[in-house]
Amino acid sequence: MKVLVIGNGGREHALAWKLLQSKQIEQVVCVPGNGGTASMEGCQNLSLAVDDFEAIAQFAKDQNITLVVVGPEVPLAKGITDYLKSLGLMVFGPTKAGAQIEASKAWAKALMQEAGIPTARAAVFTEAAAAKSYVKGQGAPIVVKADGLAAGKGVIVAQTVEQAHAGIDAMFGGEFGSAGKFVVIEECLTGQEVSVLALTDGLTIRPLLAAQDHKRIGEGDTGENTGGMGAYAPAPIATPELMAKVQKQVLEKAIAILRKKGIDYRGVLYAGLMITPNGDFKVLEFNCRFGDPETQVVLPLLETPLEELILACVEQRLAQMPPIAWKQGAAVTVVAASGGYPGAYEKGKVITGIPEAQALGTTVFHAGTKAFPGGSEKTRQVVTDGGRVLNITAVGENFEHALTQAYAGTQCIHFEGMYYRRDIGHRVK
Ligand code: AMP
Repeated sequence: MKVLVIGNGGREHALAWKLLQSKQIEQVVCVPGNGGTASMEGCQNLSLAVDDFEAIAQFAKDQNITLVVVGPEVPLAKGITDYLKSLGLMVFGPTKAGAQIEASKAWAKALMQEAGIPTARAAVFTEAAAAKSYVKGQGAPIVVKADGLAAGKGVIVAQTVEQAHAGIDAMFGGEFGSAGKFVVIEECLTGQEVSVLALTDGLTIRPLLAAQDHKRIGEGDTGENTGGMGAYAPAPIATPELMAKVQKQVLEKAIAILRKKGIDYRGVLYAGLMITPNGDFKVLEFNCRFGDPETQVVLPLLETPLEELILACVEQRLAQMPPIAWKQGAAVTVVAASGGYPGAYEKGKVITGIPEAQALGTTVFHAGTKAFPGGSEKTRQVVTDGGRVLNITAVGENFEHALTQAYAGTQCIHFEGMYYRRDIGHRVK
């Protein structure tokens, strides 16, 4: 099989890495990929934009690609699946209609309310004055969300009414483009966040191991929100009892309501949950794709070949698959970021120490890197090319072991300005 993976982050490196472990996969092509996918045996990069559907389809047809796996939400929300499927290609990822579950928070909220999925109380607004007066009535803290895709930046957890009002003005003022045409104002929840990524063929839905991310830039979960600074799986807070409730009250209800709306959803449904202090949970958001960096800790623990699960989803036969098999133990990933991220940062810094980290048994997934021009693609030096640069990942017989290994690997790596959190997993210890 030849597989095309769309995207260029750590998630896509992990997907390509996992797929290439299977004897069935002869080649993976990443569009556009990164420095890590370029240097992996059996993998090559193709420099196309993720929303250049025509060129992607042409390549897939010419090269006899068996399966297309879509990483990020943007091409899904723009209808990549609809387009490629209409040309007879096999695609893992929901259609444009299904991707609304992430691409419109107002749509997702209405869906949850209709299906009776536990979620935070919320109201949707189309103009600032009404939104502000609602906030005054509710008081702070309160959460203000731009409706559409905003690269993870469209959520403001406001501690005061004034902050919420400023957020509302920014959103309606166009700071997030068309994503801010509608604004969702939501009750502020407290507790621990858990990510449940589930695979579905539109009829059956099966969760993967629950993971926990670390969204804030600073240690002790302080400072600005980021794309995620580290993760681990399985998350001990997601007990079998909790996961059974999530299956019944969230995942199965979501698939049923999507089907009722005529949406044939095949791909990943990712539920971001808040576990409230009394042990209840509510859905904060749904995403229509694998999480990043959660994928980087979930896939290393997966024993069932990934392509078998993906094909079962695409061909709508997930119910016939045996239970998903997992390795014992735990996985931890530490994100090495460029100095200044999530604000302004410099690119093009030479990265050293990856072979040394790998020699310790860690897997280094590249996120924001590229191969430096010159030399052969497999041997050339990699340089930083994004905010989140590397995900240093370790699997251990238990959480402590995986954590120690992941940090030992991280300490081998160097690039100018490198920053990483030293307290990944602090909720577990
Ligand atoms: P979302 O994209 O909706 O998941 O929001 C991004 C982040 O904002 C979440 O991971 C939470 O950390 C935070 N957040 C979102 N909604 C709420 C809420 N209702 N209460 C508290 N924090 C929230």
